[in-house]
Amino acid sequence: MKKGAPRQLTWLPRRAIREHCLWCCEDREQEIEACASERCPLHRFRFGEAVPGEEDLHAVIRRKCLDCVMGLRSEVESCTSVDCSLWVFRLAKNLRLKPPSP
Ligand code: SF4
Repeated sequence: MKKGAPRQLTWLPRRAIREHCLWCCEDREQEIEACASERCPLHRFRFGEAVPGEEDLHAVIRRKCLDCVMGLRSEVESCTSVDCSLWVFRLAKNLRLKPPSP
Protein backbone atom coordinates (compact mmCIF):
# COMPACT_ATOMS: atom_id res chain seq x y z
CA MET A 1 0.00 0.00 0.00
CA LYS A 2 2.81 2.45 -0.84
CA LYS A 3 1.95 5.89 -2.45
CA GLY A 4 1.47 8.84 -0.11
CA ALA A 5 1.59 9.20 3.63
CA PRO A 6 -0.49 6.90 5.87
CA ARG A 7 -4.08 7.95 5.70
CA GLN A 8 -6.18 9.63 8.35
CA LEU A 9 -8.04 6.76 10.02
CA THR A 10 -11.64 7.52 10.88
CA TRP A 11 -14.79 6.01 12.30
CA LEU A 12 -16.94 7.20 9.45
CA PRO A 13 -17.17 5.09 6.29
CA ARG A 14 -18.00 8.16 4.18
CA ARG A 15 -14.85 9.95 5.36
CA ALA A 16 -12.80 6.77 4.95
CA ILE A 17 -13.90 6.52 1.31
CA ARG A 18 -12.86 10.11 0.66
CA GLU A 19 -9.51 9.46 2.35
CA HIS A 20 -8.98 6.43 0.12
CA CYS A 21 -9.69 8.46 -3.00
CA LEU A 22 -7.23 11.12 -1.82
CA TRP A 23 -4.66 8.34 -1.37
CA CYS A 24 -5.52 6.89 -4.79
CA CYS A 25 -4.98 10.30 -6.43
CA GLU A 26 -1.96 11.25 -4.29
CA ASP A 27 -3.94 14.02 -2.60
CA ARG A 28 -4.83 15.73 -5.91
CA GLU A 29 -8.49 16.74 -5.46
CA GLN A 30 -8.93 17.67 -9.13
CA GLU A 31 -7.94 14.09 -10.02
CA ILE A 32 -10.74 12.76 -7.83
CA GLU A 33 -13.20 15.08 -9.54
CA ALA A 34 -11.95 13.91 -12.94
CA CYS A 35 -11.85 10.24 -11.94
CA ALA A 36 -13.21 8.18 -14.83
CA SER A 37 -13.03 4.81 -13.05
CA GLU A 38 -16.77 4.28 -12.93
CA ARG A 39 -16.22 0.59 -12.24
CA CYS A 40 -14.51 1.44 -8.96
CA PRO A 41 -16.99 0.64 -6.16
CA LEU A 42 -16.13 3.99 -4.53
CA HIS A 43 -16.72 6.13 -7.62
CA ARG A 44 -20.20 7.45 -6.68
CA PHE A 45 -19.02 8.24 -3.15
CA ARG A 46 -15.61 9.82 -3.90
CA PHE A 47 -16.70 13.33 -2.85
CA GLY A 48 -17.47 12.20 0.70
CA GLU A 49 -21.06 13.43 0.42
CA ALA A 50 -24.39 11.64 0.68
CA VAL A 51 -25.63 10.27 -2.66
CA PRO A 52 -29.38 9.92 -3.38
CA GLY A 53 -30.56 6.33 -2.95
CA GLU A 54 -27.16 5.30 -1.63
CA GLU A 55 -26.61 1.79 -0.33
CA ASP A 56 -24.86 0.73 2.88
CA LEU A 57 -21.37 2.26 2.73
CA HIS A 58 -19.90 -0.69 4.64
CA ALA A 59 -20.97 -2.96 1.79
CA VAL A 60 -19.47 -0.53 -0.74
CA ILE A 61 -16.15 -0.59 1.11
CA ARG A 62 -16.26 -4.37 1.32
CA ARG A 63 -16.61 -4.52 -2.47
CA LYS A 64 -13.63 -2.18 -2.85
CA CYS A 65 -11.56 -4.38 -0.58
CA LEU A 66 -12.52 -7.49 -2.55
CA ASP A 67 -11.58 -5.56 -5.67
CA CYS A 68 -8.22 -4.75 -4.11
CA VAL A 69 -7.36 -8.42 -3.45
CA MET A 70 -8.74 -9.95 -6.65
CA GLY A 71 -11.92 -11.10 -4.95
CA LEU A 72 -10.23 -13.32 -2.34
CA ARG A 73 -12.33 -13.07 0.85
CA SER A 74 -9.60 -14.68 2.96
CA GLU A 75 -7.20 -11.96 1.81
CA VAL A 76 -9.61 -9.25 2.96
CA GLU A 77 -9.97 -10.95 6.34
CA SER A 78 -6.20 -11.30 6.78
CA CYS A 79 -5.33 -7.87 5.34
CA THR A 80 -2.49 -6.17 7.25
CA SER A 81 -2.67 -2.74 5.57
CA VAL A 82 -3.71 -1.04 8.80
CA ASP A 83 -2.78 2.40 7.45
CA CYS A 84 -5.43 2.04 4.73
CA SER A 85 -8.41 4.23 5.62
CA LEU A 86 -10.77 1.42 4.61
CA TRP A 87 -9.10 -1.24 6.80
CA VAL A 88 -11.40 -0.93 9.83
CA PHE A 89 -14.45 -1.30 7.55
CA ARG A 90 -13.19 -4.16 5.38
CA LEU A 91 -15.44 -6.76 7.04
CA ALA A 92 -18.53 -4.65 6.22
CA LYS A 93 -18.79 -3.46 9.83
CA ASN A 94 -16.87 -0.92 11.89
CA LEU A 95 -14.31 -3.05 13.77
CA ARG A 96 -13.85 -0.26 16.30
CA LEU A 97 -17.45 -0.59 17.44
CA LYS A 98 -16.87 -3.77 19.39
CA PRO A 99 -19.91 -4.85 21.40
CA PRO A 100 -19.30 -4.52 25.17
CA SER A 101 -17.95 -7.76 26.60
CA PRO A 102 -20.60 -9.62 28.75
S1 SF4 B 1 -13.28 6.38 -7.16
FE1 SF4 B 1 -11.83 4.65 -7.06
S2 SF4 B 1 -10.44 5.00 -8.79
FE2 SF4 B 1 -11.53 6.95 -8.41
S3 SF4 B 1 -10.21 8.06 -7.01
FE3 SF4 B 1 -11.63 6.91 -5.74
S4 SF4 B 1 -10.55 4.97 -5.26
FE4 SF4 B 1 -9.51 5.94 -6.98
